[in-house]
Amino acid sequence: MDEFEKDKRRIEELTQLLNRYNREYYVLDNPSVSDAEYDSLMEELELLERKHPSLKSKISPTNRVGGMVSEGFEKVVHKKYMLSIADVFNEEELVRFDETIRRLTGLSQVDYMAEVKIDGLACSLQYEDGELVQGSTRGDGSVGEDVTNNVLTIKSIPVQIADKRSLEVRGEVYMPKKSLLELNGKREETGEPLFANARNAAAGSLRQLDSSVTAKRKLDAFWYYVPDARELGFSRHSESLDYIAKLGFRTNPERRLVHGIKEVLSYVHEYHEKRPKLPYDIDGLVIKVDDLSLYDTIGYTMKTPKWEIAYKFPPEQQITKVEDILITVGRTGRVVPTACLAPVRVAGSLISRATLNNEDYIKEKDIRIGDYVVLHKAGDVIPEVEKVLLERRGKDVVPYQFPKTCPYCQEKLVRVQGQTYCQNEHCPSRKINKLIFFASDLAMDIDGMGDKLIEALFNQGLLVRTPDFYTLKDHKQEMMLMDGIGEKSFSSLMEAIEKSKKNDLPMVLCGLGIPLVGKKTAQVLADHFQSLYALMSSSLAELSSLSDVGEQTAKTISTYFEDPKNREDIELLRQRGVNFLLLHPKKKAKENFFLGKKFVLTGTISVPREVMTKRIEALGGISSSSVSKKTDFVLAGVEAGSKLDRAKSLGIKVFSEEEILPLLQEAEKSQQE
Ligand code: NAD
Repeated sequence: MDEFEKDKRRIEELTQLLNRYNREYYVLDNPSVSDAEYDSLMEELELLERKHPSLKSKISPTNRVGGMVSEGFEKVVHKKYMLSIADVFNEEELVRFDETIRRLTGLSQVDYMAEVKIDGLACSLQYEDGELVQGSTRGDGSVGEDVTNNVLTIKSIPVQIADKRSLEVRGEVYMPKKSLLELNGKREETGEPLFANARNAAAGSLRQLDSSVTAKRKLDAFWYYVPDARELGFSRHSESLDYIAKLGFRTNPERRLVHGIKEVLSYVHEYHEKRPKLPYDIDGLVIKVDDLSLYDTIGYTMKTPKWEIAYKFPPEQQITKVEDILITVGRTGRVVPTACLAPVRVAGSLISRATLNNEDYIKEKDIRIGDYVVLHKAGDVIPEVEKVLLERRGKDVVPYQFPKTCPYCQEKLVRVQGQTYCQNEHCPSRKINKLIFFASDLAMDIDGMGDKLIEALFNQGLLVRTPDFYTLKDHKQEMMLMDGIGEKSFSSLMEAIEKSKKNDLPMVLCGLGIPLVGKKTAQVLADHFQSLYALMSSSLAELSSLSDVGEQTAKTISTYFEDPKNREDIELLRQRGVNFLLLHPKKKAKENFFLGKKFVLTGTISVPREVMTKRIEALGGISSSSVSKKTDFVLAGVEAGSKLDRAKSLGIKVFSEEEILPLLQEAEKSQQE
């Protein structure tokens, strides 16, 4: 099948599928897929239709405002279309929206009203002669459903207002988080199906033929738009909102008039944080041009106004397919399975891999090649396979067989404490990963030494062990024959390698790849011993006595230096000019309150946490990330959570920022004396 034919089929398939999802969502209030999955399918269809405009069907869901009108309700023809809002999914797209608005209006900076996008359903209220005469849903944008009796059950909606003109106010009816919890709790008791989210619960409750049911559902509403604002004499959207607030409509207090894209982006950052704390669900933010006189110039598409945009929060969950399971053997020999996934966007980034940790993890979750899985990623956290969708498992999908031998050297794999290892020191995968780690920014930070290049140099036999980095300069001819290496890139690579010889001791210690020695431990070892040779000749007892070096780490350090092969590598690194000394020894702090005290910083303080940590460490304090009996004190900022609770339960001294500052200043003064 050629590409055109393939795209044609996909367009047909997506059109059918999305129309079905629309019906489930808007008519039945019972979606079968997540909003994120729906949004990514819609994005795919839009892209394909843009590629082949002739293939766009008349019934394409990209043409229409989603909803439909159900039987049973009187129909209401909207005086002005109730449109949808175009979506963006990241900050770059928001910046582009602002660029377009500035280009269309000729302004250098635009005022926007930034609002939260409440996850409920759109509703219109019509007032005549100061009285509420009709409430309606959006429906298909042109015709909605008459839900006046149901709207009247929402107590915060004014039935009378002090403006006698014909006035339409639009907004969102929603179900507060607390009401949803209560409602689902009750439904669980009575065995009724639970509402998947607040939006469906709100829609299912407002679109009830029996308004006594709606009355029990504890709905509420925010009002965010006056369609006739200009005709009513307002020149700014913000003014119209302030006016309806004065009339007694609940307007959203989180709205903010912002000036230019920089302030839009700060609002976005702020609401990423605030979102979970709001008493109702929001699925994004809406950014609207404030000056109403610009609306005609900016214009509309068939489905959406161009003067507003919805910034959708990146979904933290997504469904995707496991296309393969890849086995890697790390530098320590640990075998790590990774799921290769059909790419999906989760929490803002495109994900195509997720670690499966180990054999037991795969078994426990019964993850198989060909399965559909729920992928989860919150914030900066690494994506994780949450669960397999068993109902979508194909008949030909068979249980995954974890390999018994190393796929890189065929050595038998061994299990130690729940993990699988390849114990062959000469395993090519282990060796390559050792080299990759050495050059990475976690260790020697050699600019330009990427994974692919290292692998290619390894396969050519030019780079087999870490000291070989420093003889690469002698292989210019061979390297120049390799893909992507030219005169210029060769010389900047050699410069980066040369520069790495002067790295400070902690980086070198990291680069050696001693098991259990990460950045922090390397720093502790370097501060204490000040040279690699002093560390190599230390005793097990001396090592174990250091803070942050437990008994197990002390043992692995000793074992590492006992190995003649490692000693040989170290000797070669020295001969080739790598620095083994601590270049910037810390001044030893004089006696003061913080010296030798273990502390944990939690919550938000007035300065970046690293700044405060560095100040305390400079006085000899030892920072730690978790609270234990060994913690001497906790510095708790605003909204400190579980760490503060733990400190209290263990009876550990807790300081606020205000309390610690005088102690810090006093201790710092004593160091200067
Ligand atoms: P939308 O919900 O993404 O955005 C428009 C709506 O936002 C408005 O109609 C209004 O109701 C609401 N809104 C909330 N706060 C607002 C504010 N401050 N200002 C202006 N409007 C505000 O668009 P839509 O067309 O109603 O629905 C499309 C979305 O619905 C999709 O992106 C998808 O996430 C979801 N959907 C899901 C399925 C499914 O099967 N899961 C099916 C169809 C639609």
